[in-house]
Amino acid sequence: MTEAIPAAPSCADDHDPMSLTVQDALARILANVAPVCSPEPVPVAATLGRILAADIVSTMNVPAHTNSAMDGYALSGSDIPARGTGELEVIGTAFAGRPYLSTVARGQCVRIMTGAPLPPGTDTVVMQERVGQRGDRIIRIDGNLKAGDNVRQAGEDIREGQTVLAAGRRLMPADIGLIASLGIAEVAVHRPLRVAIFSTGDELRPVDERLGPGDVHDSNRYTLRGMLQRLGAQIKDVGIVRDTPEHTRAAFQAAAAGQDAIISSGGVSVGEADFVKQVLSELGHAEFWKVAMKPGRPLTFGRVRGAVFFGLPGNPVSVMVTFYQFVQPALRRMMGETQGGELRLRATSASRLKKRPGRVEFQRGVLGQDEGGALVVRKTGMQGSGILTSMSHANCFIILPQDCAGVEIGDPVEVQPFAGLI
Ligand code: AMP
Ligand code: MG
Repeated sequence: MTEAIPAAPSCADDHDPMSLTVQDALARILANVAPVCSPEPVPVAATLGRILAADIVSTMNVPAHTNSAMDGYALSGSDIPARGTGELEVIGTAFAGRPYLSTVARGQCVRIMTGAPLPPGTDTVVMQERVGQRGDRIIRIDGNLKAGDNVRQAGEDIREGQTVLAAGRRLMPADIGLIASLGIAEVAVHRPLRVAIFSTGDELRPVDERLGPGDVHDSNRYTLRGMLQRLGAQIKDVGIVRDTPEHTRAAFQAAAAGQDAIISSGGVSVGEADFVKQVLSELGHAEFWKVAMKPGRPLTFGRVRGAVFFGLPGNPVSVMVTFYQFVQPALRRMMGETQGGELRLRATSASRLKKRPGRVEFQRGVLGQDEGGALVVRKTGMQGSGILTSMSHANCFIILPQDCAGVEIGDPVEVQPFAGLI
């Protein structure tokens, strides 16, 4: 008589009624994290990538003065001839930073450079290429000009009192320039988030040690560090942690001190020496989820003292996928960021993609354009959760929905460009 093999859920199964969907897991995480509110003043030049802690409200008009958009001649619109041509006397010159301050009478004009304030009595600029010259002091214009042409009005970019940038924004180069243009030297931004990381596994060796039988170099702390640096987090590296309750406990204690978040990799899958779960339950609050996704099914979420804890799976691609889908949105919220959703696009698949229904898959792709400019995506070779080159060669995730049963060449697919993930 042959014994039946038990049908317990395993990592190879694609449908598991006990699993959380990706959206549910994310929603639970986001409901359990809040902004770490403690603004600090920072000189505007050092604010790239920081999160604004208060609205930027303009105390002035930009531009501050009505000024010329061209090199030419400033005149009164009432001097534009209705027909034929008219002559104007040139009575002076206005430079950017050296205005012409006297009033310009009818029949007169002022030579003006780009950015120079319009002299009193003028409201229009004629381009220098569009005038005829008679000697040094007289120009001739035609009626091919409207009052107000070639002039930048005071406040046309920003009005005094206007909210220019809202709190919660991650500052981009243009924002920094904008803040500087308002004469603001110091900006209130949220303090950097403090995040501790560690890797679990008896097989892990540091990069500068030789591998023994069965060993692997610890790469997860490097990918985590990279992703966290991009976010602007302050990183505390707790190192490699051996698979024993004592080492795991010591790691959590070191990691929790003074940190906002802790991220570990490895040691959360079923059947493993599961010390992450055990120690987390003992020291804090812990939830263990199976998420209907591939890669990255097992996920641990909890809290140790004041720190939020994310226990990511050990496989190198799973670490990156779960970081981008769950940890990054949570950390961005904790950092006080409120804007900037992630970018998802539709593209045509240039590859056949194997998939079974049951889980959302985050395959790795290279997004590009065909000759006509339309978006096309192809997969990056082998898609195993240990194949880190599949991430390195990719520039996007190809997101295949739970019930998708495979993709043929030419089918539309949804992609999430890495560029949109920060
Ligand atoms: P685990 O989730 O601990 O069972 O690990 C799953 C797989 O990921 C195993 O093959 C581990 O050797 C590998 N792995 C775990 N942690 C790391 C790490 N920090 N760097 C590279 N590979 C790892
Ligand atoms: Mg392990």
